Amino acid sequence: MSLLAELVKKVAIEEGFSLSGIAPAAPLRELDYFPVWIKAGFHGEMDYLAKTNDAGELRRAALANVAPWARSVVVCAANYNSATPYSTQCRAPDRGWISRYAFIESDYHDLLLARLRHVESRMVEHIVAEGHPSPRTWCYVDTGPVVERVLAQHSGIGWTGKNACILNQQLGSWLFLGVILSAHALPPDLPAADRCGSCTRCLDACPTQALVAPRQLNATRCISYLTIEQRGPVPEELREKMGRHLFGCDICQDVCPWNRRAPASPDPAFSPRTELVNPLLEWISGMNIEEFRRTFRKSPVKRAKLDGLLRNAAIAMGNSGDRRHLPRLRELAQHENPAVAEHARWAISRLETPPIADSER
Ligand code: SF4
Ligand code: SF4
Repeated sequence: MSLLAELVKKVAIEEGFSLSGIAPAAPLRELDYFPVWIKAGFHGEMDYLAKTNDAGELRRAALANVAPWARSVVVCAANYNSATPYSTQCRAPDRGWISRYAFIESDYHDLLLARLRHVESRMVEHIVAEGHPSPRTWCYVDTGPVVERVLAQHSGIGWTGKNACILNQQLGSWLFLGVILSAHALPPDLPAADRCGSCTRCLDACPTQALVAPRQLNATRCISYLTIEQRGPVPEELREKMGRHLFGCDICQDVCPWNRRAPASPDPAFSPRTELVNPLLEWISGMNIEEFRRTFRKSPVKRAKLDGLLRNAAIAMGNSGDRRHLPRLRELAQHENPAVAEHARWAISRLETPPIADSER
């Protein structure tokens, strides 16, 4: 490993990242599927994923389409896991689920971007000190026109599991990723080997069959997409399958054997906010705008907006089988947002209609 690569990795750890590696800025065969994925419409309403460059090429289909000057990509990963139960262990009908990455203390975008910028500036300082020109660099945490997990795989951080998440042998899949694109070439690491083997637990456990094949996610069926990105009504045939998910979904990670012994992060920035772990549906469904802003000011949950969260809470209450939610649902059925009101009416009818016994089918 070159001295520079060694330094970059050392600084990444000093800045609080758990892992780092270097991917080549070369054509990566895993990205060949990206145009097919977009053409199939699996990105749903996430139009930013289908953006093209001036030549009409999909920006995310190749690094060269967006940063032809890049020679290397430094990938950093931070473990955000906490010693809290998995969604698959939380069965109380009066509680919902907020995804593991969203119930932590910090807004990880801002936090990790600041850390990544420190790594970037130390790297540039060192390159210049070695007598090279100051290279062009770009830093991204989630917001860049790149497919981070493919770069993470080629940096050796982990392999892409059949659940389409990056998995590391020691840390599991609870990883935030950040990337630094660099015009200065660094020696690349070896890609991580695939260790899914014959396992299909994630594919089998997905309630909406959103994983249409190993590593192929139809986002429009994914509960994460439906609870966060989908505006307006959720397709009725998917509502029952969404369970009590309020924001995001962790099922295909919760069932993964590589996450069984995933260690909790020692980083206090990723400590869980206990009130958001498996939160009470009564509390979430009764929020007004002030409480929503106060509670989720530093949380990714604000992306769903209050009306989106209330809509999700209505679905969750409808799926709870718990008729104690009926008074709140009747209030929500009068909500000024037609989507919230319609989902509440759907939930009321679901709770009021007794399930058909198998013998009567
Ligand atoms: S996040 Fe949930 S809905 Fe989406 S693929 Fe995984 S298990 Fe399925
Ligand atoms: S559950 Fe099994 S198949 Fe899915 S990502 Fe984990 S190891 Fe791979």
